[in-house]
Amino acid sequence: MVLNEGRYEFAGNVDPLAICETYGCPVYIYDSSVITKQYKRLVDAIEVPNFKINYACKALTNINILRHLRTLGSGLDTVSIQEVELGLKAGFNPTDIVYTPNCVSFEEIEKAVAYGVKINIDNISILELFGDRFPNHPVCIRINPHIYAGGNSKISVGHIDSKFGISFHQIPLVKRIVKSLNINVEGLHMHTGSDILDVEVFLRGADILFNTAMEFEGLSYLDFGSGFKVPYKPNDISTDIEELGSNISKRFNDFCSNYGSELTLMFEPGKFLVSEAGYFLTKVNVVKQTISTIFAGVDSGLNHLIRPMFYGSHHEIFNVSNPEGKSRIYTVVGYICETDTFGVNRKITEIKEGDILAFKNAGAYCSTMASNYNSRYRPAEVLVHEGEAHLIKKRETMDDLLRNQVEIPTLANTLAQ
Ligand SMILES: *Cc1c(COP(=O)(O)O)cnc(C)c1O
Repeated sequence: MVLNEGRYEFAGNVDPLAICETYGCPVYIYDSSVITKQYKRLVDAIEVPNFKINYACKALTNINILRHLRTLGSGLDTVSIQEVELGLKAGFNPTDIVYTPNCVSFEEIEKAVAYGVKINIDNISILELFGDRFPNHPVCIRINPHIYAGGNSKISVGHIDSKFGISFHQIPLVKRIVKSLNINVEGLHMHTGSDILDVEVFLRGADILFNTAMEFEGLSYLDFGSGFKVPYKPNDISTDIEELGSNISKRFNDFCSNYGSELTLMFEPGKFLVSEAGYFLTKVNVVKQTISTIFAGVDSGLNHLIRPMFYGSHHEIFNVSNPEGKSRIYTVVGYICETDTFGVNRKITEIKEGDILAFKNAGAYCSTMASNYNSRYRPAEVLVHEGEAHLIKKRETMDDLLRNQVEIPTLANTLAQ
């Protein structure tokens, strides 16, 4: 969304306030042109003969978003069998879907094998079971390089005590299992966590993956996961994708010539592709002045956008209804009956009740983490695509809240009397 002649608009002059009029508030709005731009930026940053991006769809799973990424040439990274099934429904070939489960049941892994998707194994006992049950079925092994990365302990997954991946110190054991069960290892994977600031840290992990890869014959790909950080605040530090791309490309090409074959380099970004494409628009119900604070209370809360409360994440907030007014300092809060603060002491152009506030970076891990807490409906979602606003998810209704509730007849009868 950009400011143009005194009003905010999306690509193709699409008016965010008109979307709120049509579909109501609160509403998630995504701009497909931003996703396209980020996808191309990553493609342009990598210079290797075989490169593949697998979108980590847990960030935003709407089927239209999946299809848009498929048209760009993306594959899919999935973490549950339901995400695999959504990917298949969206039209992805099974071989373009990577399934990277953690602590799921073996039945779920069997299902994924039946679908024919790529399987990524992150646990020695599962590797043994898998090799025993599916000899010759290709697998990828998730290595834990013990790199501490990530802006937040909840999303750092590559450190020594992490539940993710097989420690690179256990490679001798992995090799023994692979050899004795004749397992076909087609790829190695790492994912050190979200929000890696530092290209150096990423490359240290990559070097561990290259060294490990030299110990396995016949690999066809190396998957370097993700963790690319995007800016959340003005002047925020973000991963320098161009620098990362040129460094990793060079090392990857060197690796391939040492290894003696041309492998595929894979990345599986979620946040990088969709975070900045999304905005969450809410209506201000009340402006409340206390002794020291001006609160702006919006028609949403941690039920719709939990990242500020769960991770302490910063989402920029601006007043779409008053683009050029004078700024004041506000604390923006939700309507949930516990403390649900979106932002403290934010400079926002003057807010009146009824104004529309927009939250930035609402594309990744926002709507997919929404709940029905306080029996509120989850918001509608709209995709701005090729100059038009399309409803891609309806706002819920009372029917949705009651859909899976089962009434006990005797209790229902008591009330009827
Ligand atoms: C969540 C996840 C990703 C995506 O992480 P982002 O920080 O959103 O880019 C990639 N790979 C795996 C295995 C994941 O679990």
